[in-house]
Amino acid sequence: MKLFDPHIHMTSRTTDDYEAMARAGIAAVVEPAFWVGQPRTHVGTFEDYFLSLLGWERFRASQFGIRHYCTMGLNPKEANDAKLADGVLEILPTYLEKQGVVAVGEIGYDDQTPTEEHYLVRQLELARAHELPVLIHTPHRDKKRGTIRTLEVLRAHGFPMELALVDHNNEETLPHVLDAGAWAGHSIYPKTKMDEHRMVTLVQRYGSERILVNSAADWGVSDPLKVPKTAKAMREAGIDDTIIAAICWGNPVAFFAQSGRLDLAEIASAASVDQRQLWEGNSVLRGQAPVVED
Ligand SMILES: [Zn+2]
Repeated sequence: MKLFDPHIHMTSRTTDDYEAMARAGIAAVVEPAFWVGQPRTHVGTFEDYFLSLLGWERFRASQFGIRHYCTMGLNPKEANDAKLADGVLEILPTYLEKQGVVAVGEIGYDDQTPTEEHYLVRQLELARAHELPVLIHTPHRDKKRGTIRTLEVLRAHGFPMELALVDHNNEETLPHVLDAGAWAGHSIYPKTKMDEHRMVTLVQRYGSERILVNSAADWGVSDPLKVPKTAKAMREAGIDDTIIAAICWGNPVAFFAQSGRLDLAEIASAASVDQRQLWEGNSVLRGQAPVVED
């Protein structure tokens, strides 16, 4: 079964991770632009980060047979630095026009400040202008209130719910997101937030419609194999393969295809690996023999 991790920060991960993910059946990923763990001090560093998501990281994924797409946005945490945030919003439209950008994100609330809300709304407007879906981060603290508030903002601005993927859900937030008509992402973590067994229970209760799972793996304690591990847990619990395939492949493809930038024929076929290829003169090989597959 082909698997899709629709929220993973591969920039923070190693080539070992790419190899293990490909072996476990992950054929496509979406890498949202996010917070890099330390506040950025210049707009230019966002620009180079955005370019690396479109260039080098996409190339790295291709070297292991994984199709790589990304989302572009100003993350909620850094939205609180208004001077920086305005600069990022100025350059964002250029990046939203690039091939491989399948949504605006991740955007939303962190501390649920008025400044965060201002930049959330401005980026919803950008998504409308560029006819893109949005990937929404929900806060770790006071999650239920933050999720409900996010849905209210979407409603108040007339943002089409079918174009919104609200992420990092749990038992408390999922019914609100589904009732609103948005798509619901679940980040499966090793120790916190949501695990594969709780996810099984949610799927047994709610089914597969508009439900996605991801690893949200990054530079913190996280596991890039959580999508295959959740698929396995669902199978062991007797959940039908059609439901697993919808959650782990069909739904992310359907959601991000709304960007008009997912080639459905391409994504349905296996990506070939040719490690003789270079990106701007560089390879991932460090002198090792290149793998070449048909
Ligand atoms: Zn993230």
